[in-house]
Amino acid sequence: MREGVLIADILKSCPICKSRAYIEKEMADGYFFGWSVGCPRYRIKDGIHAEKMSFHNCRSREAAIKKWNEWVGAIVK
Ligand SMILES: [Zn+2]
Repeated sequence: MREGVLIADILKSCPICKSRAYIEKEMADGYFFGWSVGCPRYRIKDGIHAEKMSFHNCRSREAAIKKWNEWVGAIVK
């Protein structure tokens, strides 16, 4: 899917483990719960990711991408 390739190119990779970040639309029972973005390897207290590495409830895909990239940009200086 062309759109997916574009998103992968736009999203920055995880600043901790360098994994390619994920982004997905949260749907449950037909209801939209916002977009989630973050590191696919992130687990609480995994010894690698000291900070929370994902965000939820973003109102749009663009907002999720912006939030993640700005956050990564603030860590990687
Ligand atoms: Zn990571």
